[in-house]
Amino acid sequence: MGSKGISINTHEIGVFGGTFDPIHNGHIQSVTEGARHLNLTKVLLLPAHIPPHKSNVIASSKHRLAMAEMVCQHHPLFTCDDRELQRQAPSYTIDTLIEISECYPKNTLYLFIGMDSFINFTTWYRWQDILKQCHLIVSARPNYVITDINQETQQLLSQSQVNTPSMLKKHKAGKIYLFEQSDFLVSSTEIRHQLQQTNERLDNIPDYIAQYIKAHKLYQLT
Ligand code: ATP
Repeated sequence: MGSKGISINTHEIGVFGGTFDPIHNGHIQSVTEGARHLNLTKVLLLPAHIPPHKSNVIASSKHRLAMAEMVCQHHPLFTCDDRELQRQAPSYTIDTLIEISECYPKNTLYLFIGMDSFINFTTWYRWQDILKQCHLIVSARPNYVITDINQETQQLLSQSQVNTPSMLKKHKAGKIYLFEQSDFLVSSTEIRHQLQQTNERLDNIPDYIAQYIKAHKLYQLT
């Protein structure tokens, strides 16, 4: 469903953006676990159109959106939101959050990100403004090391981290909740490589995504 069709009744909305090239079980699993911690029933899934930090997107927006929509059909927690694909400008997270909070001014927003993105959070465009719009929910892969996080982000974490979801819910925005996700050491890059090397079933993507990729001949060597 496109962004115009979304109807949200809850007061708390998860927001999860990414290139999703392709979307995989690490994405689905980590956010599902985080949503369970917070008791969220709605997470917007936003494929990015022009990722500011990436120049090697391989599948078209159309295909990445279609795969995200399939995940939403199989997991009622997720609602697909195509607003970043509609915008003719880089998909900066702050722009997306401002748009979402204008649509839902009374809702608290929880932005989900993986630890590999969080480690450099203070280099994100207008990161201070991002924290005025939402809480950050960071999924840490098991055995992460705090020293991988850049110094300014470590400082931010020591000021803003809360240890329980109930502490988070005392505030409208600006707090960081970090949780350790189950072991899903997978990335889209890895999956694209695997797809080029084997025809066998991959464990790290849902079968319906694998079928879509096959049907549309995505990620093949040229
Ligand atoms: P790529 O390998 O192409 O860089 P990716 O697998 O990291 O892709 P993205 O679409 O770039 O996927 O990531 C979207 C978000 O999902 C980011 O916040 C990223 O940190 C998070 N993420 C990616 N993989 C995982 C995983 N296995 N577990 C938890 N979070 C993840």
